[in-house]
Amino acid sequence: MNIVILLGAPGSGKGTVAAKLAAENANLKHVSSGDLLRGAVAKGTEAGKAAKDFMEAGKLVPDELIATMIKDVIAESTGDVTMLLDGFPRNVAQADILEKTGAEIRSVVLIDVPDSVIQDRIAGRRTCPACKAGYHVKALPPKVEGKCDKCGADLVIRKDDNPETVKDRLVVYHQQTEPLIAYYKEKGLLRVVDGDQGPEKNAEAFKAAM
Ligand code: ADP
Repeated sequence: MNIVILLGAPGSGKGTVAAKLAAENANLKHVSSGDLLRGAVAKGTEAGKAAKDFMEAGKLVPDELIATMIKDVIAESTGDVTMLLDGFPRNVAQADILEKTGAEIRSVVLIDVPDSVIQDRIAGRRTCPACKAGYHVKALPPKVEGKCDKCGADLVIRKDDNPETVKDRLVVYHQQTEPLIAYYKEKGLLRVVDGDQGPEKNAEAFKAAM
């Protein structure tokens, strides 16, 4: 098992890219920290209860809480699998925790998207609560409006995808997550992909970089 880390601002499309590649290749496993947390909130677990308010405010949940979930997934993964780790680490403390697990990091792919296009992207974002597929009303519309192509469930707008919370999430990204660019550059692991080319080309460029 080795890991490819996806770095990028909220709305950079990293989740969509990872989901698409994992669907095409059985040896890729998409692990989204946001999906793990939303699952825990929906189930009402202790971790979910502890995470809910942070998530709704657009803040990071405590490092140990998410790190424990990620460590569990890593421990369960064996064999010839590449994990596309989407949304973790989100700050240098989490990157240090990941390093201590001894997990082999193959590369860190930064999906680079300017802030100016982020608000628009998130405003059009729709998510399937059942199978987690992601859509965009303009860039990646579902075949039937409001319904998931894959499982037919009603698509939803995430609670934290409102313009105010998005602003807060971008501040968090610049302050806490962006330092990871220098952190992984120094380790020689960073690859940068232009994330403003549309979902298909983004996925191709990502594949070439990983
Ligand atoms: P996006 O990439 O669109 O910002 P995510 O689904 O990755 O959204 O994350 C949604 C929320 O889940 C974050 O705003 C944060 O509250 C929480 N979260 C996800 N991953 C982490 C993490 N690694 N550390 C702390 N909080 C996290």
